[in-house]
Amino acid sequence: MTTNTFDSKASYEVIRRLEEAGHEAVFVGGAVRDHLLRKTAKDIDIATSAEPDEVKAIFDNTIDVGIAHGTVLIIIENEAIEVTTYRTEGTYTDHRRPDNVHFVKTLRDDLLRRDFTINALAMTKNGKIIDLFNGETDLKERLIRAVGNPTERFHEDALRMLRAVRFSSVLDFDIEAGTLLAIHQNAHQIKHVSIERIKIELDKLFTGVNPMKAMNTLFSSRLGKELSLYTDKVKELKRALPFVIATEGWAFFVTIAEINPSKLANHFKLSNEEKNFITAVHKLYTKRLESDYTIEDYYSYDLQVLKCAEKFFHAVNVDAGTLTDLEIEERKKALPIQTKQDLEVSGKDLMEWTDLPGGPWTGEWIKKIEQAVLHGQCKNTLTDIKDWFMNDFKCEK
Ligand code: ATP
Ligand code: MG
Repeated sequence: MTTNTFDSKASYEVIRRLEEAGHEAVFVGGAVRDHLLRKTAKDIDIATSAEPDEVKAIFDNTIDVGIAHGTVLIIIENEAIEVTTYRTEGTYTDHRRPDNVHFVKTLRDDLLRRDFTINALAMTKNGKIIDLFNGETDLKERLIRAVGNPTERFHEDALRMLRAVRFSSVLDFDIEAGTLLAIHQNAHQIKHVSIERIKIELDKLFTGVNPMKAMNTLFSSRLGKELSLYTDKVKELKRALPFVIATEGWAFFVTIAEINPSKLANHFKLSNEEKNFITAVHKLYTKRLESDYTIEDYYSYDLQVLKCAEKFFHAVNVDAGTLTDLEIEERKKALPIQTKQDLEVSGKDLMEWTDLPGGPWTGEWIKKIEQAVLHGQCKNTLTDIKDWFMNDFKCEK
Protein backbone atom coordinates (compact mmCIF):
# COMPACT_ATOMS: atom_id res chain seq x y z
CA MET A 1 0.00 0.00 0.00
CA THR A 2 1.34 3.44 -0.87
CA THR A 3 0.96 6.21 1.65
CA ASN A 4 -0.46 9.48 0.48
CA THR A 5 1.74 12.56 0.40
CA PHE A 6 -1.08 14.91 1.35
CA ASP A 7 -3.44 14.53 4.26
CA SER A 8 -6.41 15.42 2.11
CA LYS A 9 -8.01 12.08 1.23
CA ALA A 10 -10.61 13.84 -0.87
CA SER A 11 -7.99 15.24 -3.25
CA TYR A 12 -6.89 11.69 -4.12
CA GLU A 13 -10.49 10.72 -4.67
CA VAL A 14 -10.92 13.67 -7.06
CA ILE A 15 -7.87 12.65 -9.11
CA ARG A 16 -8.95 9.00 -9.12
CA ARG A 17 -12.38 9.83 -10.47
CA LEU A 18 -11.08 12.24 -13.09
CA GLU A 19 -8.67 9.55 -14.31
CA GLU A 20 -11.42 6.94 -14.24
CA ALA A 21 -13.39 9.17 -16.61
CA GLY A 22 -10.41 9.18 -18.98
CA HIS A 23 -8.85 12.53 -18.06
CA GLU A 24 -5.44 13.47 -16.68
CA ALA A 25 -5.18 15.05 -13.25
CA VAL A 26 -2.16 15.97 -11.12
CA PHE A 27 -1.20 18.03 -8.11
CA VAL A 28 0.50 21.30 -9.12
CA GLY A 29 2.06 24.50 -7.89
CA GLY A 30 2.70 25.50 -4.30
CA ALA A 31 1.53 22.22 -2.75
CA VAL A 32 4.10 20.18 -4.67
CA ARG A 33 6.82 22.72 -3.93
CA ASP A 34 6.02 22.76 -0.23
CA HIS A 35 5.89 18.96 -0.09
CA LEU A 36 9.40 18.74 -1.58
CA LEU A 37 10.52 21.30 0.99
CA ARG A 38 8.98 19.11 3.68
CA LYS A 39 6.56 21.84 4.60
CA THR A 40 2.84 21.41 5.07
CA ALA A 41 1.02 22.80 2.05
CA LYS A 42 -1.58 25.47 2.79
CA ASP A 43 -3.86 24.69 -0.11
CA ILE A 44 -3.82 21.89 -2.62
CA ASP A 45 -4.30 22.67 -6.30
CA ILE A 46 -5.14 20.07 -8.91
CA ALA A 47 -4.73 20.60 -12.66
CA THR A 48 -6.67 18.48 -15.14
CA SER A 49 -7.10 17.97 -18.86
CA ALA A 50 -10.87 17.88 -18.33
CA GLU A 51 -12.76 21.06 -19.22
CA PRO A 52 -14.95 22.64 -16.51
CA ASP A 53 -18.18 21.14 -17.90
CA GLU A 54 -16.58 17.71 -17.92
CA VAL A 55 -15.40 18.16 -14.33
CA LYS A 56 -18.87 19.21 -13.26
CA ALA A 57 -20.42 16.18 -14.94
CA ILE A 58 -18.31 13.84 -12.82
CA PHE A 59 -18.99 15.27 -9.35
CA ASP A 60 -22.33 15.81 -7.62
CA ASN A 61 -21.44 18.88 -5.66
CA THR A 62 -19.45 21.61 -7.40
CA ILE A 63 -19.20 25.38 -7.16
CA ASP A 64 -18.19 27.66 -10.04
CA VAL A 65 -15.57 29.71 -8.24
CA GLY A 66 -13.62 30.86 -11.27
CA ILE A 67 -15.17 29.16 -14.21
CA ALA A 68 -13.86 31.78 -16.66
CA HIS A 69 -10.33 30.79 -15.61
CA GLY A 70 -11.20 27.11 -15.62
CA THR A 71 -11.46 26.64 -11.86
CA VAL A 72 -14.17 24.51 -10.29
CA LEU A 73 -14.49 23.82 -6.57
CA ILE A 74 -15.49 20.27 -5.77
CA ILE A 75 -17.15 19.57 -2.44
CA ILE A 76 -16.42 15.99 -1.51
CA GLU A 77 -16.02 14.10 1.78
CA ASN A 78 -16.44 17.39 3.69
CA GLU A 79 -13.51 18.94 1.86
CA ALA A 80 -13.35 21.61 -0.82
CA ILE A 81 -10.91 20.77 -3.60
CA GLU A 82 -9.98 23.24 -6.33
CA VAL A 83 -9.53 21.82 -9.79
CA THR A 84 -8.30 23.94 -12.71
CA THR A 85 -8.34 22.93 -16.35
CA TYR A 86 -4.94 22.95 -18.11
CA ARG A 87 -4.73 26.38 -19.61
CA THR A 88 -2.49 28.98 -21.10
CA GLU A 89 -3.04 32.63 -20.72
CA GLY A 90 -3.89 34.54 -23.89
CA THR A 91 -2.21 37.74 -24.97
CA TYR A 92 -1.23 40.29 -22.38
CA THR A 93 -1.79 43.74 -23.79
CA ASP A 94 -1.31 45.61 -20.55
CA HIS A 95 1.20 43.67 -18.41
CA ARG A 96 -1.51 42.88 -15.87
CA ARG A 97 -3.72 39.94 -16.58
CA PRO A 98 -4.31 37.78 -19.59
CA ASP A 99 -7.04 39.15 -21.88
CA ASN A 100 -8.43 35.68 -22.19
CA VAL A 101 -7.73 32.17 -21.07
CA HIS A 102 -7.32 29.23 -23.43
CA PHE A 103 -7.76 25.68 -22.32
CA VAL A 104 -5.00 23.40 -23.56
CA LYS A 105 -4.62 19.67 -23.77
CA THR A 106 -1.20 19.06 -22.30
CA LEU A 107 0.21 19.50 -18.84
CA ARG A 108 3.38 20.87 -20.43
CA ASP A 109 1.49 23.85 -21.85
CA ASP A 110 -0.08 24.47 -18.47
CA LEU A 111 3.25 24.35 -16.65
CA LEU A 112 4.84 26.69 -19.20
CA ARG A 113 2.58 29.57 -18.16
CA ARG A 114 3.52 29.27 -14.48
CA ASP A 115 5.80 31.86 -12.94
CA PHE A 116 8.84 30.10 -11.43
CA THR A 117 10.46 26.72 -11.94
CA ILE A 118 9.79 25.80 -8.28
CA ASN A 119 6.09 26.58 -8.85
CA ALA A 120 5.91 24.64 -12.10
CA LEU A 121 6.31 21.20 -10.56
CA ALA A 122 3.54 18.62 -10.77
CA MET A 123 2.98 15.34 -8.98
CA THR A 124 0.83 12.33 -9.79
CA LYS A 125 -1.42 10.77 -7.20
CA ASN A 126 1.24 8.06 -6.75
CA GLY A 127 3.83 10.64 -5.78
CA LYS A 128 5.79 10.77 -9.04
CA ILE A 129 7.24 14.22 -9.64
CA ILE A 130 6.92 15.80 -13.08
CA ASP A 131 9.67 18.37 -13.45
CA LEU A 132 10.00 19.89 -16.92
CA PHE A 133 12.07 22.95 -16.03
CA ASN A 134 14.57 21.70 -13.45
CA GLY A 135 12.50 23.00 -10.60
CA GLU A 136 13.90 20.35 -8.27
CA THR A 137 17.46 21.55 -8.87
CA ASP A 138 16.39 25.12 -8.17
CA LEU A 139 14.65 23.96 -4.99
CA LYS A 140 17.87 22.30 -3.84
CA GLU A 141 19.89 25.38 -4.72
CA ARG A 142 17.23 27.58 -3.16
CA LEU A 143 16.72 29.70 -6.26
CA ILE A 144 13.76 31.53 -7.69
CA ARG A 145 14.06 31.36 -11.47
CA ALA A 146 11.46 32.42 -14.02
CA VAL A 147 10.10 29.73 -16.33
CA GLY A 148 11.47 30.75 -19.74
CA ASN A 149 12.66 34.25 -20.54
CA PRO A 150 12.19 36.42 -17.43
CA THR A 151 11.81 39.68 -19.32
CA GLU A 152 9.04 38.22 -21.46
CA ARG A 153 7.37 36.68 -18.43
CA PHE A 154 7.43 40.01 -16.57
CA HIS A 155 6.08 41.81 -19.63
CA GLU A 156 3.15 39.40 -19.62
CA ASP A 157 2.41 39.96 -15.95
CA ALA A 158 4.47 42.46 -13.99
CA LEU A 159 3.20 41.12 -10.66
CA ARG A 160 5.57 38.17 -11.10
CA MET A 161 8.48 40.49 -10.21
CA LEU A 162 6.92 41.15 -6.82
CA ARG A 163 6.03 37.48 -6.43
CA ALA A 164 9.71 36.62 -6.92
CA VAL A 165 10.60 39.03 -4.14
CA ARG A 166 7.79 37.68 -1.95
CA PHE A 167 8.99 34.08 -2.37
CA SER A 168 12.55 35.16 -1.54
CA SER A 169 11.17 36.29 1.84
CA VAL A 170 8.78 33.40 2.47
CA LEU A 171 11.23 30.66 1.45
CA ASP A 172 14.47 32.51 2.19
CA PHE A 173 15.64 31.77 -1.36
CA ASP A 174 17.79 33.93 -3.63
CA ILE A 175 16.51 35.22 -6.93
CA GLU A 176 18.51 33.74 -9.80
CA ALA A 177 20.79 36.31 -11.49
CA GLY A 178 18.98 36.52 -14.84
CA THR A 179 15.60 36.78 -13.15
CA LEU A 180 16.93 39.45 -10.79
CA LEU A 181 18.42 41.46 -13.65
CA ALA A 182 15.06 41.40 -15.41
CA ILE A 183 13.40 42.70 -12.22
CA HIS A 184 15.87 45.60 -12.09
CA GLN A 185 15.25 46.39 -15.75
CA ASN A 186 11.47 46.12 -15.64
CA ALA A 187 10.58 47.38 -12.15
CA HIS A 188 8.73 50.39 -13.58
CA GLN A 189 6.12 48.08 -15.09
CA ILE A 190 4.75 47.19 -11.66
CA LYS A 191 2.59 50.31 -11.96
CA HIS A 192 0.33 48.44 -14.39
CA VAL A 193 -0.69 45.92 -11.72
CA SER A 194 -3.79 46.36 -9.57
CA ILE A 195 -3.15 47.41 -5.99
CA GLU A 196 -5.21 44.49 -4.64
CA ARG A 197 -2.85 41.92 -6.18
CA ILE A 198 0.19 43.89 -5.00
CA LYS A 199 -1.12 44.07 -1.43
CA ILE A 200 -1.58 40.28 -1.20
CA GLU A 201 2.08 39.74 -2.13
CA LEU A 202 3.36 42.45 0.24
CA ASP A 203 1.41 40.99 3.17
CA LYS A 204 3.07 37.62 2.56
CA LEU A 205 6.47 39.28 2.10
CA PHE A 206 6.22 41.12 5.47
CA THR A 207 5.66 37.93 7.43
CA GLY A 208 8.06 35.69 5.52
CA VAL A 209 11.13 33.98 6.97
CA ASN A 210 13.56 36.56 5.58
CA PRO A 211 11.76 39.84 4.88
CA MET A 212 15.06 41.75 5.07
CA LYS A 213 16.38 39.91 2.04
CA ALA A 214 13.20 40.74 0.13
CA MET A 215 13.15 44.38 1.22
CA ASN A 216 16.74 44.84 0.13
CA THR A 217 15.72 43.67 -3.34
CA LEU A 218 12.64 45.87 -3.20
CA PHE A 219 14.74 48.94 -2.45
CA SER A 220 17.68 48.19 -4.76
CA SER A 221 15.54 47.29 -7.77
CA ARG A 222 13.33 50.40 -7.74
CA LEU A 223 10.30 48.18 -7.19
CA GLY A 224 9.97 49.86 -3.78
CA LYS A 225 10.10 53.37 -5.26
CA GLU A 226 7.58 52.41 -7.95
CA LEU A 227 5.27 51.10 -5.24
CA SER A 228 5.75 54.24 -3.11
CA LEU A 229 7.16 51.99 -0.44
CA TYR A 230 10.65 53.21 0.12
CA THR A 231 12.98 54.02 3.00
CA ASP A 232 16.67 54.48 3.54
CA LYS A 233 16.27 53.50 7.20
CA VAL A 234 17.51 50.01 6.50
CA LYS A 235 19.34 49.55 9.78
CA GLU A 236 16.24 50.53 11.71
CA LEU A 237 14.15 48.19 9.59
CA LYS A 238 16.47 45.33 10.42
CA ARG A 239 16.02 46.03 14.12
CA ALA A 240 12.23 46.31 13.73
CA LEU A 241 12.01 42.78 12.33
CA PRO A 242 10.41 40.29 12.53
CA PHE A 243 6.91 41.59 11.96
CA VAL A 244 4.54 39.56 14.11
CA ILE A 245 1.65 40.25 11.75
CA ALA A 246 1.64 41.71 8.25
CA THR A 247 0.04 44.93 9.51
CA GLU A 248 3.23 45.63 11.48
CA GLY A 249 4.94 45.90 8.09
CA TRP A 250 2.52 48.63 7.03
CA ALA A 251 2.95 50.28 10.44
CA PHE A 252 6.74 50.34 9.90
CA PHE A 253 6.28 52.42 6.76
CA VAL A 254 4.11 55.04 8.50
CA THR A 255 6.35 55.34 11.55
CA ILE A 256 10.05 54.85 10.94
CA ALA A 257 9.81 55.33 7.17
CA GLU A 258 7.60 58.38 7.75
CA ILE A 259 5.03 57.79 5.02
CA ASN A 260 1.75 59.60 5.70
CA PRO A 261 -0.67 57.06 7.27
CA SER A 262 -3.84 58.04 5.43
CA LYS A 263 -1.99 58.30 2.15
CA LEU A 264 -0.57 54.81 2.59
CA ALA A 265 -3.89 53.36 3.76
CA ASN A 266 -5.75 54.81 0.78
CA HIS A 267 -3.11 53.89 -1.73
CA PHE A 268 -2.91 50.24 -0.67
CA LYS A 269 -6.63 50.04 0.15
CA LEU A 270 -6.04 48.82 3.68
CA SER A 271 -9.05 47.46 5.56
CA ASN A 272 -10.55 49.50 8.41
CA GLU A 273 -8.96 47.14 10.90
CA GLU A 274 -5.54 47.60 9.30
CA LYS A 275 -6.05 51.36 9.08
CA ASN A 276 -6.95 51.53 12.79
CA PHE A 277 -3.86 49.54 13.70
CA ILE A 278 -1.38 51.63 11.73
CA THR A 279 -3.01 54.88 12.89
CA ALA A 280 -2.81 53.76 16.52
CA VAL A 281 0.81 52.63 16.22
CA HIS A 282 1.70 55.89 14.49
CA LYS A 283 0.08 57.97 17.25
CA LEU A 284 1.61 56.00 20.09
CA TYR A 285 5.06 55.81 18.46
CA THR A 286 5.08 59.58 17.97
CA LYS A 287 4.26 60.03 21.68
CA ARG A 288 6.82 57.41 22.67
CA LEU A 289 9.58 59.40 20.97
CA GLU A 290 8.93 62.10 23.58
CA SER A 291 8.11 60.16 26.76
CA ASP A 292 7.43 56.81 28.44
CA TYR A 293 4.05 55.11 28.23
CA THR A 294 1.52 56.48 30.69
CA ILE A 295 -1.25 54.63 32.50
CA GLU A 296 -3.62 56.12 29.94
CA ASP A 297 -1.57 54.58 27.13
CA TYR A 298 -1.63 51.12 28.73
CA TYR A 299 -5.35 51.48 29.22
CA SER A 300 -6.37 52.84 25.83
CA TYR A 301 -4.10 50.98 23.42
CA ASP A 302 -4.26 47.30 22.50
CA LEU A 303 -1.41 45.10 23.61
CA GLN A 304 -0.32 44.53 20.03
CA VAL A 305 -0.16 48.29 19.40
CA LEU A 306 1.83 48.88 22.60
CA LYS A 307 4.33 46.17 21.72
CA CYS A 308 4.72 47.28 18.13
CA ALA A 309 5.23 50.99 18.93
CA GLU A 310 7.79 50.08 21.63
CA LYS A 311 9.65 47.79 19.23
CA PHE A 312 9.81 50.52 16.60
CA PHE A 313 10.86 53.10 19.20
CA HIS A 314 13.70 50.86 20.24
CA ALA A 315 14.69 50.26 16.62
CA VAL A 316 15.45 53.97 16.23
CA ASN A 317 16.70 54.57 19.79
CA VAL A 318 18.96 51.64 20.45
CA ASP A 319 20.49 53.18 23.53
CA ALA A 320 17.25 54.22 25.20
CA GLY A 321 15.85 52.01 27.94
CA THR A 322 13.23 49.73 26.59
CA LEU A 323 10.46 47.46 27.80
CA THR A 324 10.21 43.81 26.90
CA ASP A 325 6.95 42.39 25.56
CA LEU A 326 6.49 40.63 28.88
CA GLU A 327 6.90 43.84 30.86
CA ILE A 328 4.34 45.56 28.65
CA GLU A 329 1.94 42.65 29.15
CA GLU A 330 2.41 42.75 32.92
CA ARG A 331 1.92 46.49 33.14
CA LYS A 332 -1.25 46.34 31.13
CA LYS A 333 -2.53 43.39 33.15
CA ALA A 334 -1.78 45.22 36.40
CA LEU A 335 -4.23 48.04 35.58
CA PRO A 336 -7.21 48.06 38.01
CA ILE A 337 -9.56 47.79 35.03
CA GLN A 338 -9.09 46.89 31.38
CA THR A 339 -12.24 48.54 30.01
CA LYS A 340 -15.13 50.63 31.24
CA GLN A 341 -17.23 47.44 31.39
CA ASP A 342 -14.99 46.20 34.22
CA LEU A 343 -16.25 48.95 36.55
CA GLU A 344 -18.28 47.57 39.44
CA VAL A 345 -20.88 50.32 39.07
CA SER A 346 -23.10 51.61 36.29
CA GLY A 347 -25.21 54.68 35.62
CA LYS A 348 -28.12 52.96 37.38
CA ASP A 349 -26.18 52.88 40.67
CA LEU A 350 -25.46 56.60 40.39
CA MET A 351 -29.19 57.34 39.90
CA GLU A 352 -30.04 55.20 42.92
CA TRP A 353 -27.46 56.85 45.17
CA THR A 354 -28.53 60.40 44.20
CA ASP A 355 -32.23 59.86 43.63
CA LEU A 356 -31.83 61.79 40.41
CA PRO A 357 -33.22 60.86 37.00
CA GLY A 358 -30.74 59.65 34.39
CA GLY A 359 -29.23 62.08 31.88
CA PRO A 360 -25.94 63.03 30.29
CA TRP A 361 -24.55 63.57 33.79
CA THR A 362 -24.41 59.81 34.48
CA GLY A 363 -22.13 59.19 31.52
CA GLU A 364 -19.92 62.09 32.53
CA TRP A 365 -19.60 60.74 36.09
CA ILE A 366 -18.92 57.21 34.92
CA LYS A 367 -16.00 58.70 32.98
CA LYS A 368 -14.74 60.43 36.13
CA ILE A 369 -15.09 57.20 38.13
CA GLU A 370 -13.22 55.33 35.40
CA GLN A 371 -10.33 57.79 35.73
CA ALA A 372 -10.36 57.63 39.53
CA VAL A 373 -10.26 53.82 39.52
CA LEU A 374 -7.63 53.72 36.79
CA HIS A 375 -5.35 56.09 38.68
CA GLY A 376 -5.85 54.34 42.02
CA GLN A 377 -7.83 57.14 43.70
CA CYS A 378 -10.41 54.56 44.66
CA LYS A 379 -10.71 50.80 44.46
CA ASN A 380 -12.97 49.14 41.94
CA THR A 381 -15.55 48.02 44.52
CA LEU A 382 -19.11 49.17 44.96
CA THR A 383 -18.50 50.63 48.43
CA ASP A 384 -15.24 52.43 47.59
CA ILE A 385 -16.67 53.90 44.44
CA LYS A 386 -19.80 54.98 46.29
CA ASP A 387 -17.74 56.75 48.99
CA TRP A 388 -15.57 58.46 46.43
CA PHE A 389 -18.53 59.43 44.30
CA MET A 390 -20.77 60.76 47.09
CA ASN A 391 -17.90 62.86 48.38
CA ASP A 392 -16.95 64.37 45.01
CA PHE A 393 -20.52 64.69 43.83
CA LYS A 394 -21.38 66.79 46.89
CA CYS A 395 -18.29 68.94 46.45
CA GLU A 396 -19.20 69.75 42.89
CA LYS A 397 -22.79 70.64 43.68
P1 ATP B 1 1.33 30.04 -1.52
O1 ATP B 1 1.89 28.93 -0.70
O2 ATP B 1 1.71 31.38 -1.00
O3 ATP B 1 -0.14 29.92 -1.80
P2 ATP B 1 1.58 29.32 -4.27
O4 ATP B 1 2.76 28.94 -5.09
O5 ATP B 1 0.52 28.30 -4.08
O6 ATP B 1 2.11 29.88 -2.90
P3 ATP B 1 -0.45 30.95 -5.40
O7 ATP B 1 -0.51 32.43 -5.54
O8 ATP B 1 -1.45 30.27 -4.55
O9 ATP B 1 1.01 30.61 -4.95
O10 ATP B 1 -0.54 30.37 -6.90
C1 ATP B 1 -0.64 28.98 -7.18
C2 ATP B 1 0.20 28.61 -8.40
O11 ATP B 1 -0.29 29.31 -9.55
C3 ATP B 1 1.66 29.01 -8.30
O12 ATP B 1 2.43 28.01 -7.65
C4 ATP B 1 2.04 29.18 -9.75
O13 ATP B 1 2.30 27.93 -10.36
C5 ATP B 1 0.78 29.74 -10.37
N1 ATP B 1 0.74 31.23 -10.39
C6 ATP B 1 0.17 32.03 -9.47
N2 ATP B 1 0.27 33.33 -9.83
C7 ATP B 1 0.91 33.35 -11.00
C8 ATP B 1 1.31 34.38 -11.89
N3 ATP B 1 1.07 35.67 -11.62
N4 ATP B 1 1.94 34.02 -13.03
C9 ATP B 1 2.17 32.73 -13.32
N5 ATP B 1 1.83 31.71 -12.53
C10 ATP B 1 1.20 32.00 -11.37
MG1 MG C 1 -1.38 28.66 -3.07
